[in-house]
Amino acid sequence: MSSTLITGITELITNDPDTEVPPDPALIVTDGRVSWIGSADRAPAADTALPAEGTVLPAFVDSHSHLVFDGDRSAEFTARMIGARYDGGGIATTVEATRAATDERLRALVEARVAEMRRQGTGVVEIKSGYGLNTPDELRSLRIAAEFTSEVTFLGAHVVPVEYRSDRAGYVDFVIGEMLQRAAEYARWIDVFCEPNSPHAFTGEESREILLAGRAAGLELRVHGNQLGHGPGAQLAVELDAASVDHCTYLSDADIDALAGSATVATVLPGVEFSTHSPYPDARKLIDSGVTVAIASDCNPGTCYSTSIPFMISLAVREMGMTPTEAVWAATRGSALSLRRDDLGVIKVGSPAELTVLDAPNHLHLAYRPGVPLARRLL
Ligand SMILES: [Zn+2]
Repeated sequence: MSSTLITGITELITNDPDTEVPPDPALIVTDGRVSWIGSADRAPAADTALPAEGTVLPAFVDSHSHLVFDGDRSAEFTARMIGARYDGGGIATTVEATRAATDERLRALVEARVAEMRRQGTGVVEIKSGYGLNTPDELRSLRIAAEFTSEVTFLGAHVVPVEYRSDRAGYVDFVIGEMLQRAAEYARWIDVFCEPNSPHAFTGEESREILLAGRAAGLELRVHGNQLGHGPGAQLAVELDAASVDHCTYLSDADIDALAGSATVATVLPGVEFSTHSPYPDARKLIDSGVTVAIASDCNPGTCYSTSIPFMISLAVREMGMTPTEAVWAATRGSALSLRRDDLGVIKVGSPAELTVLDAPNHLHLAYRPGVPLARRLL
């Protein structure tokens, strides 16, 4: 057994209503779990001492990322900044580059991206496939993702690949056939880009078929929905009890009512609106309506090549009407709930020591000081 006493905590965010935080709080981590929380002057002895000298909070949970890719789409981003519109078509460029990469190269790219996330305070990360779009390349993406996380998502239904452009139904059958059966070996989740407003993505009916097949194969459900316009994604997610519907840029009042009465989390991805010059979702309205909101990066080469949850928190506060406190909760506890991980996004006795420290006196600084590298993993 080895224990570490963490002191010098200027503010402790626990996200746990049952944990009382005293003045001058301290905590002890024993063998990777929080074993004690209390006032520093009453702390029991521990093997080592670690002064945090800042704000301690649960590590960010990044519940939506596409880290397994090769290729560069900076020119596409640059074109969008001066007016080109995003419609999901650029994904084909990444598919080509990803299929061409060696296993070693793909693994090294994912490793570097995960390390970049950790340097900015992220703990558990969800990683999707979706740039292989054939059986060997999807399986390879999932296998590599599984080396870095247990939150692996099969996204064979990301877009219809070029070779199936004239046979959409054939591609859906292909995804839910052999590809899905073999993907279930590595993945916990299945996801679909449900977006009738993109000619490359999937309709509501196609999405339903894919999600139901995924559930039958033992996978749990997530949905990309309501990104480019109003559509069926959010209500389909609620109807099928998906853990999360992600994007939620265009929601009707009926969509919000459905989400509010459900266990489906609405995950907002403000880096996407930033990187595609799109209107931001109305997170204020979601929260005021009783919807559980999460924030994630959606780190991907096309629509948001950022691994920074602090940046997403800044955007959510500046552009989506969230308070800093709500945004920090959404990027920790909210995103943990969107992965149905009750053990994450919280600091209490017994929880895993997934801890982040801010070089700041309180959590408000995450939004107040955008772009400043305040957050890092504590342990
Ligand atoms: Zn995504």
